[in-house]
Amino acid sequence: MRIVVLGAGVVGVATAWFLNRDGHEVVVLDRQPGPGLETSFANGGQISANHTTPWAGPATPWTALKWLGRADSPLRIRPGLDPALWAWLARFLANCTAARMRRNTERALRLALLSRDTLRQVRAETGIHYDELTLGILHVFRDCAEFDRAVPQAELMDRAGCRRRVLDPDACVALEPALAAARPDLVGGIVSPDDESGDAHAFTAQMAALAAAAGVEFRYGTEVRALAARGDRVTGVETGGGTVSGDLYVLALGSYSPLLVRPLGLRLPITPAKGYSVTLPVADPARTPRVSLIDDEHKLVYSRLGDRLRVAGMAELAGYDTRLDPARARVVRDQALGLFPGCADPEAAESWCGLRPKTPDSVPILGRCRVGNLLLNTGHGTLGWTMACGSARVMADLVAGRTPAISLDGLGLDRF
Ligand SMILES: Cc1cc2nc3c(=O)[nH]c(=O)nc-3n(C[C@H](O)[C@H](O)[C@H](O)COP(=O)(O)OP(=O)(O)OC[C@H]3O[C@@H](n4cnc5c(N)ncnc54)[C@H](O)[C@@H]3O)c2cc1C
Repeated sequence: MRIVVLGAGVVGVATAWFLNRDGHEVVVLDRQPGPGLETSFANGGQISANHTTPWAGPATPWTALKWLGRADSPLRIRPGLDPALWAWLARFLANCTAARMRRNTERALRLALLSRDTLRQVRAETGIHYDELTLGILHVFRDCAEFDRAVPQAELMDRAGCRRRVLDPDACVALEPALAAARPDLVGGIVSPDDESGDAHAFTAQMAALAAAAGVEFRYGTEVRALAARGDRVTGVETGGGTVSGDLYVLALGSYSPLLVRPLGLRLPITPAKGYSVTLPVADPARTPRVSLIDDEHKLVYSRLGDRLRVAGMAELAGYDTRLDPARARVVRDQALGLFPGCADPEAAESWCGLRPKTPDSVPILGRCRVGNLLLNTGHGTLGWTMACGSARVMADLVAGRTPAISLDGLGLDRF
């Protein structure tokens, strides 16, 4: 079968790789000059399968109110007059109940665990390296109330088979000695030893190279302008370089996915949530963490990528504004250097921002839709790197008519 994959981010490239392995003829279209150059470029680097707690939960509206107005707030909302964003926010609020949060966590976790296993298989099969570390993820807390809220949830996850251990501050420092300077402020931590970290862009670039060598055609610098359709089938992709046709199409355009399918009558509730990252060349390895971390207080994640430290966070709901605000990037950098003083030269920091494709329930949109030959693989939000390989495997199973390794209940567009 000839399959056109729209988008060469981590999700599209992994999908192309799995489809090629099944013997399909695959063409990948992307407007950028190479793979993984938009949201998959400089993310937080975490393969955080054990951290699939959705943004929407009972405490979220109150936490958001507390943050709004603070200059260093991890969250900013500027809906303006955008009706799509207002509709998204209403759906988000509807997901802020304990029952929905449990349901959404289970759905995301199902996919994330499959994905982590699949990533390991890909690594074993291809031998690729992308500054990966398999040291787990340590979530550290400086606020007693937050820690007390997180512990029962961690114990619940542990009983459900997602290994988690609750640590006191000394045990946190024993696990990650670079936390020594922060020891007086720590109230505890929760470690998920099976989680991982690594450079999503390096992974995407290498997988694209392997896929190209295996016969996948990548057309970079190709803007997708529209999908041509007749009845309930896509007949071709209109690009700056002419029409590209296939038997089947996979939508993996990240935050831009809803724009392309709206003319077909498909409404994908995905909104861009801008995040920031700062990458610091390590100056003092002893003061720089190797274990990937989540700093609960500032909602920042840390990943050691070889001789670099990546720090990422912030969420801005303000439409498709891709401009980098240097003040926001400085907040991320300074909070990192506050936690790990002397680990890097602040002047050498490289700042970046990208748009997370967020659904209101923090679960991606996978599978078939009412356009017969269009498969959806989008809306991965904060966890697209974590979920890319599993989502790709699901796509390949659907195309081949195999039963996917996980139930797709609650992962499709029909849930909205
Ligand atoms: C600050 C930050 C930190 C993050 N940290 C983590 C983390 O630690 N762990 C994790 O799992 N996830 C993390 N994420 C989320 C993760 O990066 C995303 O979910 C993931 O990159 C989405 O991948 P994608 O392939 O769907 O989208 P993208 O990488 O955006 O790929 C979509 C592709 O479509 C192309 N495209 C779009 N429109 C068009 C068009 N009209 N024509 C042609 N091409 C087009 C783009 O060029 C792009 O290459 C983070 C995100 C951010 C912003």
